[in-house]
Amino acid sequence: MCDVCNGRHVVYGYTRIGTMIQPCPNCNPKPKEQYEQEYQERMKRFELAKERFSKEVIPC
Ligand SMILES: [Zn+2]
Repeated sequence: MCDVCNGRHVVYGYTRIGTMIQPCPNCNPKPKEQYEQEYQERMKRFELAKERFSKEVIPC
């Protein structure tokens, strides 16, 4: 079993707008179909987060 992803084939990356799920760099990604489906859901969530993020004024 892969040590990086614990056999889940994805790794989590943290950004300031939330958690991003990425394919594991250490082993093969999930089957394309499943990956595509999750990608769509992820993008949906990302768009929602972006929308919410853009409404907030965050001083840098
Ligand atoms: Zn892995």
